[in-house]
Amino acid sequence: MTEDEPRQQTFQLVALAEVDARRGEVQKLIDAVPRILAARKKESRDAESILKAQREKLQGFRTHLKSLELDLAEREAALSKANGNLLTAKSNAEYSLLMAEITRKKEEKGKTEESILEQFEVIKQGERLVVEAEQRLVEAQSEYVEFEQRALRELDSHHADLAKHDERREQIRRAIHGDVLKIYDRAYVALGTGIVPAEGRTCQGCFSLLTPNDANRLLAARNLVVCKMCSRILYDPQVLQASSP
Ligand SMILES: [Zn+2]
Repeated sequence: MTEDEPRQQTFQLVALAEVDARRGEVQKLIDAVPRILAARKKESRDAESILKAQREKLQGFRTHLKSLELDLAEREAALSKANGNLLTAKSNAEYSLLMAEITRKKEEKGKTEESILEQFEVIKQGERLVVEAEQRLVEAQSEYVEFEQRALRELDSHHADLAKHDERREQIRRAIHGDVLKIYDRAYVALGTGIVPAEGRTCQGCFSLLTPNDANRLLAARNLVVCKMCSRILYDPQVLQASSP
């Protein structure tokens, strides 16, 4: 390395770190898309299960109405039979008993008729809920389609950004020595950053204090300095600024 080379390498490394950070952000956005879509999809699946439940409930209401109607038919048959018996009554006492029975059967029939009317209301309400659930499902599905289209458009633009960052990244990496890249890459893969500033003689990656020797070497900027604790490459922002090309 020439005397100025470590500085140039540091510039390139800082630029590389910036590109890698931006790439990381874009990659995060790309990775989040399937998760966000799945969460949105769940909303329309929930609307589907609500609709299914409302339809099943309505079916139950209708089944109950059928059984009430059968009940009513039976009660009507029993009533007309009792009315027939009235004609064959052999005594006043028997007649009175039959009359009492007919009254009771009329009351029962009236109650069943009331229940049927109530059940019609229950069914009407159930039908309203089904219609509402159908509307919600249609809304949720069209919202999802809209959201998905937007998300896929964004995904396209994220991929375009990523391609740009990748190109810039390759360009920068070509200007950095292979052995320096190895140090950077190892720390980047393990810790998420390959180069960090040192401020107040402290590594800003792991916050451990630099040895006086390393602090001096950093100031002289003739060698690359690596943090002894975290193995990230260090740079002094002020030195870098003062010598910016
Ligand atoms: Zn460190």
